[in-house]
Amino acid sequence: MTERIFKAEGLVLRTRVLGEADRLVTILTWEEGKFEAVAHGARKIKSKLAAGVDIFTHGRFTFHRGKTWPTITSQDPIEHFLWFRENPDLYPYGLYLAELTDRLISGEESSAGFCQLLLDGWRLLGEDVDRFLLCRAFELKLAHIAGYSPHLHCCTSCGNERTVAFSPRQGGLLCSRCKGVDVISMAPGTVAIARRFIEAPLSQAGLIRPSVQQRQELALVTAAFLNYHLDLGEIKSRRLLTD
Ligand SMILES: [Zn+2]
Repeated sequence: MTERIFKAEGLVLRTRVLGEADRLVTILTWEEGKFEAVAHGARKIKSKLAAGVDIFTHGRFTFHRGKTWPTITSQDPIEHFLWFRENPDLYPYGLYLAELTDRLISGEESSAGFCQLLLDGWRLLGEDVDRFLLCRAFELKLAHIAGYSPHLHCCTSCGNERTVAFSPRQGGLLCSRCKGVDVISMAPGTVAIARRFIEAPLSQAGLIRPSVQQRQELALVTAAFLNYHLDLGEIKSRRLLTD
């Protein structure tokens, strides 16, 4: 029988107003996946829950299983990532990583990999990192963990190792003979960076020094790939990014 009370460590991805005084909180947890939970009274000024259920909270939570949503009965914050509130330039980046994670996972899958990636992303944004590279690496790593990794080793169509372009529709590289019309140029150096983004820890992303052309290719390839597979056009916070 499923326990009515359960505990989980998690990250708050999103909160919504619910009724007069409550909040509906989307939490990504290490142990129980992603789900929504009610924080009763969290909109009241004196609420003990209020500060612990804001977006950008990493904490330990206790839940009571209800008929519709679980209820958060207590929370013990571990980190608040205050830099997102103190620096208006950073806020959209933290929001973007949360929104992308929220959109990519349904809640059924094993979530420890997603939790650690988002935690690393939020922490690194508080440091002096190249935010453009961090976001591109995050996108590719997230897609990889979710099982949508782009094919970046040889031509997706014929296996030729000399590739020249990326096809969002086919989810991978193409050689000069196989490339059609709806492809994006992707030079071997850019492919190598994208592969390193997927394979190396997120903290290494900012150590790479791509050329202007490589940055442009990385931006086009990741946006088109995510857009094709995830309908990224609806991710509002991506439009707020300045790098
Ligand atoms: Zn080919």
